[in-house]
Amino acid sequence: MTNPNICGQCDSMGRSCCTLRAENNEGLPAPVSEPEIERILSFLKHKRKESFLDNRSNSPQFISQMAILFPDMADSVHKIFPLNGTHFDLKTQGDDCIFKAINGCILSDETRPHFCRIYPFWFFDNEPQVFEDSNCLALENCQTIPEVLLSLGTNPEKLKQIHARIYEDWGLSRSMPEEKKKKHM
Ligand code: SF4
Repeated sequence: MTNPNICGQCDSMGRSCCTLRAENNEGLPAPVSEPEIERILSFLKHKRKESFLDNRSNSPQFISQMAILFPDMADSVHKIFPLNGTHFDLKTQGDDCIFKAINGCILSDETRPHFCRIYPFWFFDNEPQVFEDSNCLALENCQTIPEVLLSLGTNPEKLKQIHARIYEDWGLSRSMPEEKKKKHM
């Protein structure tokens, strides 16, 4: 949930991106990294991580979703999310994320997992793009990406910083491609 107005409207219509939907039966899509878990723990205080996290298997479908999100990092993605390994994601209560309350997310903006903070945007080729989501009211109401940005009260610079922190917190360092390295030698 990014903007209380449009996200609140979306939520009141039962379309929140903090709620599982039938087409999303793999769970809320976002894996949560250790640095993000540490931030949540220090925000919540006196909670154990088992109380809000599920430890899920890295299924082939999950790994291929991660590889699509990080197309320049295929090798690292397979190291960080090996088949037969596990990752953490947020527990749900009923169909809702465990942190979803009547007035929205109980976590502070800085404490929310990065995937929550960037959604419904992502960056491909360094350009902001939006995921297809027929339940997102902002996407339904807007025709262009600048309109969606405005509607959700965000901007490409802020989103780029969140995107970079996702790479950082997952240890997905962007090394220079071999060809570019040679040109710089
Ligand atoms: S952590 Fe907050 S923003 Fe993220 S899915 Fe849960 S309720 Fe929504």
